[in-house]
Amino acid sequence: MTEKWLVGVDLGGTTTKLAFINTDGEILYKWEIPTDNCEKGKNITKHIAESIELQLAKLDKKIEMMTGIGMGAPGPVNYEAGMLYNTPNLAWEDNYPLKDMMERQTLLPTVIENDANCAALGEMWKGAGEGYNNLVCVTLGTGVGGGVIANGEIIQGVMGAAGEIGHVTSIPNGGAPCNCGKTGCLETIASATGIVRIVTEKFTNGNLQSGKLLNTFQREGKITAKDVFDCARTGDAAALAVVEEVAFHLGMALANIANTLNPDKIIIGGGVSRAGDILVNKVEEYFGKYAFPRVKKSTEISVATLGNDAGVIGAAWLAKNRNR
Ligand SMILES: [Zn+2]
Repeated sequence: MTEKWLVGVDLGGTTTKLAFINTDGEILYKWEIPTDNCEKGKNITKHIAESIELQLAKLDKKIEMMTGIGMGAPGPVNYEAGMLYNTPNLAWEDNYPLKDMMERQTLLPTVIENDANCAALGEMWKGAGEGYNNLVCVTLGTGVGGGVIANGEIIQGVMGAAGEIGHVTSIPNGGAPCNCGKTGCLETIASATGIVRIVTEKFTNGNLQSGKLLNTFQREGKITAKDVFDCARTGDAAALAVVEEVAFHLGMALANIANTLNPDKIIIGGGVSRAGDILVNKVEEYFGKYAFPRVKKSTEISVATLGNDAGVIGAAWLAKNRNR
């Protein structure tokens, strides 16, 4: 039997990641194209189709060896209808028929899913969750994404909005405004943007009086989440206080989620997770404080291992297992 390949697509607001992946989940080729949001995004699926064709031609491979496409998209997905409810980061209109558009352009069966859910499936297949089928994945990037897998299946929810861990309320009264329209969401604290906001507010309010974090801010005129962790590692008191605040809210939210689901693992991914032990050890401390004893004993916190590849690998998993 000839080898079959899968196409994994991770559609982002500015960049789309693509990969050819074998049925064992190994990436054979990966590349990126810009996401073209002009004219209400009418070229997006066309460009993806053309790019896949071009790559196949380059590799002297035929479309016939492709089993299908799996695709992660940045928004809540109607999995059955293959439709995106809405996409705040893309130019498409609401209820966009993404599956149909992709199938029309590529002539390959396509399955679509929310991007954070794809990342969770990727970690389950080939990453930190390999060998487990009860997982909660939380992605700490520009925002905070989440994916929940129970018995090997993504929990979709009635309107495709399950697993929105970023919008767990951390500050009940007040807190910073969130992109979702609420205030005080976990995303306003535990994302890269949230961490920068916390420091900037301290600086503006005169609560950042001395130390490395202040010096960095004054020298650069701005601060990044990485700066905060770098300063914390040198023992800077202000930076450590920010890490403490982030870890408290994240650890408590994850404990509450674990008290509901008791997963095998909670996997922390995204750019902020690269902070490593300085963040994760503190999150574990607060997780332990707020988790139900049996949950604390049995649910492990791990750092994601696939980085930016989790999305395309999880999408390919869908193409392998969910294409009908
Ligand atoms: Zn929110």
